[in-house]
Amino acid sequence: MKPCFEDLYGNPSSLHRVGQDARAAIERAREQVAALVSARAVEVTFTSGGTEADHLALIGAAWARRDRGMRVAYTAVEHHAVHGAALVLAEQGFEIEHLPVGRDGWVDPAEIDRLPHDTTVVAVMLANNETGVLQPVAEVARRAHARGMLLHCDAVQAAGKVPVDCGALGIDYLALSAHKLGGPKGAGALVVRAGAPLSPLFRGSGHERGRRGGTENLPGIVGLGAAADCAAHDLGEESDRLLAFRDRLEAGIANVSPDAVIHGRGAPRLPNTVNVSFPGARSDHLLMALDARGVAVSAGAACASGAVEPSPVLTAMGVPRELAVCSIRMSMGRTTTEDEVSRVVHTLAESLAVARAVSTSGVGR
Ligand code: PLP
Repeated sequence: MKPCFEDLYGNPSSLHRVGQDARAAIERAREQVAALVSARAVEVTFTSGGTEADHLALIGAAWARRDRGMRVAYTAVEHHAVHGAALVLAEQGFEIEHLPVGRDGWVDPAEIDRLPHDTTVVAVMLANNETGVLQPVAEVARRAHARGMLLHCDAVQAAGKVPVDCGALGIDYLALSAHKLGGPKGAGALVVRAGAPLSPLFRGSGHERGRRGGTENLPGIVGLGAAADCAAHDLGEESDRLLAFRDRLEAGIANVSPDAVIHGRGAPRLPNTVNVSFPGARSDHLLMALDARGVAVSAGAACASGAVEPSPVLTAMGVPRELAVCSIRMSMGRTTTEDEVSRVVHTLAESLAVARAVSTSGVGR
């Protein structure tokens, strides 16, 4: 990305040499992103990240198909970005359907057959951001198309961790985000299958083939392209490496706390994510105890002003509230080492003891 700040100062829309140098960098990144997900470069539209890509897909497709119906559907475990886009549509009079998931966080593709006939767009994510559970997207796409519906797939968490092939999945739209691939924050892309309808959200100029007005974020786009290239390069080995770490982490968890519950364990999952509840240790208390020992995890539950709310994803999976408020998410990536995994397992017993003591004493309740 560094040359973008130093030498590639031209506007990619300008016809002079410095502008065209910037354009060439963008087009190279477009090829790199397309290659990661087996799409064609012309199908890639750059955005400011996953949230914008989800909005562009859901709202842009729903607007484009407005004459056929005013209804969209999405799974109960989608990311907030999809919920947010659906909210915009609801404010405009669209009807919203929620597809339920089972105990392992999986959506049954047959749910598509039960949707009202005027549903125009369905959103089903590839991998869940809290549990890592992988959805049966190809079968969902097949059923959606059989009913004349378009399918949007949020692949923000999956891309770069497991193989993603737009053609094999049969999706119409696919959202990506650079910072989940090791790239910069504030850059992403929406892959739009050739021929899939899309009404742009940002209009005015003809950037991105008229799909997204606004001068391109050159450093971000170049960073996304480079990250996609790195991820594509060693996807298989990296995925195997992380899977071995995940197995080790889960074995360590079972050893330290046999009553721990790993969410989505029965479903296919990403190799880098473990979402686990430790009964009796509230998420925020365990997060702080681990943080004090140099381990950064996410709380599966949202905490505001001392109160803990269970994650809607776990709630949709039928996880009881008392267990859901005790869930944390551990994520690993390219920079994670074997030694770090061992350290986490080693630290866990002490952190759990501290967290359970705080949770039972009522501190922070
Ligand atoms: N979708 C999923 C599944 C995500 O995990 C995220 C971010 O965490 C997003 C969308 C939003 O992406 P961004 O942060 O680039 O807007």
